[in-house]
Amino acid sequence: MIQQKINWKERQKGKQIWRDDDIGHMTDLKKFKEVHEIFKKYKVTHTIALICKDIEKAPKLIDYIRKNDISVQIHCWDHVDFKNSALTLQEDLLNCSVAIEKHFKVAPKYVFPPWNSADETSIGIAKELDLIMEPEKISLPQYIRTKGHVKEPVINFHYWAYEHVMLLDAALNIYVNE
Ligand SMILES: [Zn+2]
Repeated sequence: MIQQKINWKERQKGKQIWRDDDIGHMTDLKKFKEVHEIFKKYKVTHTIALICKDIEKAPKLIDYIRKNDISVQIHCWDHVDFKNSALTLQEDLLNCSVAIEKHFKVAPKYVFPPWNSADETSIGIAKELDLIMEPEKISLPQYIRTKGHVKEPVINFHYWAYEHVMLLDAALNIYVNE
């Protein structure tokens, strides 16, 4: 078996996406700001996977995200499993794109699906809309355990999972310094 050679250093030079999941109108702004401060400390882009439905109910969150150059990408319209919802997926992604452009004045590029659940159909539907469906990810604890030697393009966590957020500083330290 031929093993693909991976240049870990290359991977770490700002190429991975740090994905903060489930940001939406229910997000606690105070907790979210605490997380963002850690990203600022390391000058690493903070990417959010947005639950788009009802985001207009959180104007302070929208304002904070816009003012702080946080990257806004699609998680979902509502929290559904895309594999079971191919019929509504196209509509959901379109609605999400419209909401993100309206409130954040940017066009999303990625879809990080709920439960990292994607298949050929959903990947294809996203592609038709010029979006990249990216279900591949590694968790923060795994990232730390391997000292950043991971092949996944995305590192994910949830701002509300304090046991993971407590690891964020250490993980970004590895990302920036190792
Ligand atoms: Zn989620």
